[in-house]
Amino acid sequence: MNGLIMDYPLTTNTILKYANNAFPDKKLISYLPDGSRHEYTYGKLYKRCCQLANALKNKLGITKGDMVGTFAWNHYQHVELYYGIPGIGAVCHTINIRLSSQQTEFIINHSEDKVIFVDATLVPLLEKIAPKLETVEKYIIINAPKGYTTTLPNTIHYEDLIGEQLDAIEWPTINENDASGMCYTSGTTGMPKGVLYSHRSTYLHAMTILSPNAGNYSNNDIILLVVPQFHVMAWGFPYMCLLTGSDMVMPSLHLRPDAIIRILESENINKANGVPSIWRGVYEEMKKNPPKTKLALEEYLVGGSALSGSLIENFEKDFGIKGVQAWGMTETSPLGTASRLQRKHESLSYKEQIKVRAKQGIEFPGIEMRIIGDNGKVAPRDGKTMGELQVKGAWVIKSYFKTNSRDSFTKDGWFRTGDVSTIDANGYMEITDRTKDLIKSGGEWISSVALELALMSHANIKEAAVIAIPDEKWSERPLATLVLADKNKHVSTEELKEFLSKEFASYQIPDNYVVIDEVPKTSVGKFDKKEIRRLYAEGKL
Ligand code: AMP
Repeated sequence: MNGLIMDYPLTTNTILKYANNAFPDKKLISYLPDGSRHEYTYGKLYKRCCQLANALKNKLGITKGDMVGTFAWNHYQHVELYYGIPGIGAVCHTINIRLSSQQTEFIINHSEDKVIFVDATLVPLLEKIAPKLETVEKYIIINAPKGYTTTLPNTIHYEDLIGEQLDAIEWPTINENDASGMCYTSGTTGMPKGVLYSHRSTYLHAMTILSPNAGNYSNNDIILLVVPQFHVMAWGFPYMCLLTGSDMVMPSLHLRPDAIIRILESENINKANGVPSIWRGVYEEMKKNPPKTKLALEEYLVGGSALSGSLIENFEKDFGIKGVQAWGMTETSPLGTASRLQRKHESLSYKEQIKVRAKQGIEFPGIEMRIIGDNGKVAPRDGKTMGELQVKGAWVIKSYFKTNSRDSFTKDGWFRTGDVSTIDANGYMEITDRTKDLIKSGGEWISSVALELALMSHANIKEAAVIAIPDEKWSERPLATLVLADKNKHVSTEELKEFLSKEFASYQIPDNYVVIDEVPKTSVGKFDKKEIRRLYAEGKL
């Protein structure tokens, strides 16, 4: 027997309409690429989303299921795209601006984007590959200065596109299981893989991250969204802020620590998010140049890489600002866990409490996690037994977009995260290692396998094995160990960097190269990365 409750779709339109009714005067503030400050209300956001949705339909011919790309910083126009595109049943595909040209070209052709909305400052990155983009019919330029020109074909300026459109619309009824957004994630080998979010998963994820055990957000908060909108839908914050009525502040490209501090000061921000390297940078800058008056910032939510206990402790002791660790993946929308103390932790010493807060935390309702140990069985929650972390849940991927996904799932339907973890008796998960051969630097992935293949295509490199090494600023950096084909022929670091720059974005290129006699191998002849990491840790490389 069905319950006698209305079928009320959990969609992005539901969120947008709610904010227009409940929080029409709440603010969306943007620091635009040219340095100017822009401010409007959620009421105005609603009207402009209607104009955009009308333009997508009437001027660009976008219909249900079409892919619409965005290649843009965090700002109000990008938030409008987050609602306007899925609002008419199309898919908002946010393209990572930090990838190599090769990867960007692959992603756009693979997703079959029909139109791309691009920030004027980022246009040069697309100009290089535009002739190879097979499906893109039009480019919409955002934040173009007066007299702007580009070699991109078929361009329209954003304000010209939406300017004359009606600021009201009869939003179509959308099935909550329809796709609303898409984001590609790096593969260990091969090209990035697409994760297609649904309206329902987006809604449920946004409802969850606002809850007290997660971000604990409300309409009293002013939140700085440092996490780029081209990363996992900005962790769902542009949806969450409209549900809570929190004011939202967008920094676009102003991401240097001093710029972030200036925004924190001027906007009275009390909550923020971002990867650890951003908050480490902000902390170090504040130590060097302490703000004249105490910042309103109470809490920053961190994910993407591990937030260390020492950063949590230092930020809190020196400035009274609290770090909260969360864990997630592109495949999990992204947030799956967070680590906050509970009443039972009150009796612990401060140091012991920091240890708990430096774990990745407990799963949110709607997410299940388990560890599969080396024996193939579910590991006990004892805080000691390590194994692969696997997850299930209402906002966890069930398949990649147009890609064979079999290896990413267990037979009984759990998603294999590629993280190695423990879970303790209180349910706190802690990441200890990674099975996927990837390096995470400043929140962006680097494939060690892709680097190794490229290095081994060099005439004088016989073998190359790349590992992640810890880095204060970026969390991790790649270290390349090389076996030379001809030991008498020197290959310089500059030559190697130049060689790799043809295929890799600059942040992906290793700074350090070590020549060794032989790459250690496992019994089956694979590169033994564990052994290389051990040699590095013992100072033997
Ligand atoms: P992405 O899909 O790019 O968001 O990357 C997801 C991966 O980032 C996870 O599988 C982890 O390896 C890593 N990650 C995310 N959050 C954390 C965290 N709080 N601590 C350590 N690693 C993390």
